Amino acid sequence: MKRPNILLTGTPGVGKTTLGKEIALRTDFTYINVGDLAKEGELYEGFDEEYECPILDEDRVIDEMEDKMKDGGVIVDYHSCDFFPERWFNIVFVLRTENSFLYDRLENRGYKGKKLQDNIQCEIFQTIYEEAMSSYKEEIVHQLSSNTPEDMERNLDQIIEWIEQWIKDNN
Ligand code: ADP
Ligand code: MG
Repeated sequence: MKRPNILLTGTPGVGKTTLGKEIALRTDFTYINVGDLAKEGELYEGFDEEYECPILDEDRVIDEMEDKMKDGGVIVDYHSCDFFPERWFNIVFVLRTENSFLYDRLENRGYKGKKLQDNIQCEIFQTIYEEAMSSYKEEIVHQLSSNTPEDMERNLDQIIEWIEQWIKDNN
């Protein structure tokens, strides 16, 4: 049976991990958190002092993921999306959160000062949405509001429905 690969992307704090894990619970899809994968394999090539985060070794991340992606049925979660091979994904969801909600979530996560401001700005300037629109065919890129638990439930239901339809159409 053929199954699609799904990319969940967006600014840190928008809800990618929460949604991705829920999709995996409701399906037989594999969930991959690219940040965790990089951490486990130490797939880094330095540390970005300005943004206070390790710099991903993108080539090694791609090598590590390639085998898992080729059969489909994978949900990928990462806050950037321009370095994955375009062919990997059948659909791309960019989660979006209003500032006031996002601010609280990032503060709860312990972000402060420049790191907090930079991430809020990333969302205001819709940086990741534009990155997705320039990295994938526009018609496969969809924005999802992720402000409330009701949004989360609706997004989950819609994605499950989309997956079921895709499987019917492609098998
Ligand atoms: P990301 O993986 O995009 O950084 P997380 O899934 O870790 O985001 O979510 C960040 C925080 O926001 C978590 O505490 C999570 O419970 C909460 N959250 C995520 N999505 C929603 C939503 N739609 N409504 C309310 N809270 C949410
Ligand atoms: Mg996450």
